[in-house]
Amino acid sequence: MVQFTDTELPNIIQLENVSQSYDGGNSYIIQDFNLLIEDHPNRGQFVVLLGMSGSGKSTILRYVSGLQKPSSGIVKVHDKLITDESRVSMVFQQYSSFPWMTVQENVALGLQFKGLDEKTRREKAQEMIEMVGLAGHENKYAQYPTLSGGQLQRVAIARSLLANPEILLMDEPFGALDIKTRLQMQELLIELWEKFHSTVIFVTHDIAEAVYLGDDVYIMKSAPSKIVEHIKIDLPLHRTRELKRERHFMELVQDVEDRMVQVASLD
Ligand code: ADP
Ligand code: MG
Repeated sequence: MVQFTDTELPNIIQLENVSQSYDGGNSYIIQDFNLLIEDHPNRGQFVVLLGMSGSGKSTILRYVSGLQKPSSGIVKVHDKLITDESRVSMVFQQYSSFPWMTVQENVALGLQFKGLDEKTRREKAQEMIEMVGLAGHENKYAQYPTLSGGQLQRVAIARSLLANPEILLMDEPFGALDIKTRLQMQELLIELWEKFHSTVIFVTHDIAEAVYLGDDVYIMKSAPSKIVEHIKIDLPLHRTRELKRERHFMELVQDVEDRMVQVASLD
């Protein structure tokens, strides 16, 4: 696979010859997987992973978050191996907040191990709650239907960004949302991304969403998992909804779809 890399830039996320077996090495669901994401500290970077179910997308995110270690190979964040202290939090499709805690408490969890006093934690959490558009909801329990699906995902995004604004890992985060909420969440994500210059790894099944949000779209095949396509999305850095009506946007969506179909036929 061709990697479009600029050697001047430091690496932020690196997977090297990663393999995964669940049966002691008889078969591999991931084999010699490589991915290099460079840091663009003043701009951020939006990477999208596409692939059929079972192509290993969630597993790759779990490696980067430190929730899972591969059977073999190297996973580094900021050029360092991941330790329990350097874990990166993740936003899942299922609502992942603690329903017996308030929005404020859930978001402040992002600062749990950072050695800050409670007042500072509350203040920083409050700031983030406002940024994700949840002002006025901070004392509600983070549960459905007290909060809507979109609001619960805002809680998860706030907690994750507070823990580590440099990297945001999102596994089909908008998959369970209705279309209106989904479009609102896309705009929120663009806004936050432009503010924090985060490196985002985003998994979705929605090709238009991938093209709209992504700088780099990777398509994965399964059995064993591998990146087989890398599409550079040459749309303006600042994305707005009007773009979706432009011919070039539609061409990109069609191109990605064609490649997805081709990759799926290989599986
Ligand atoms: P995706 O997120 O792309 O749908 P996953 O990363 O969840 O894919 O899974 C990749 C593959 O790994 C799938 O074939 C899945 O069945 C397999 N897998 C995941 N976890 C386990 C496990 N604990 N034991 C055995 N197989 C697993
Ligand atoms: Mg998955």
